[in-house]
Amino acid sequence: MSSNNTKQLKKAGMHIELPNKAIDVICGMEVDPAQTKLHVEHKGEVYYFCSIVCKNHFVNDPQKYVG
Ligand SMILES: [Zn+2]
Repeated sequence: MSSNNTKQLKKAGMHIELPNKAIDVICGMEVDPAQTKLHVEHKGEVYYFCSIVCKNHFVNDPQKYVG
């Protein structure tokens, strides 16, 4: 039992995302905030986008994506 738990923890650890990654809420893609100028501040949070198309979707209707 305990060895199985250890295995699962190890596996989960490999999927920890780097803190410098953001998720594009429109398409679900990973975006590196350092490499994009496409971001929008909404209700005190900053959202990053992979493309101007995704950004425009968000700007047109942010509530739809973040509630
Ligand atoms: Zn996108």
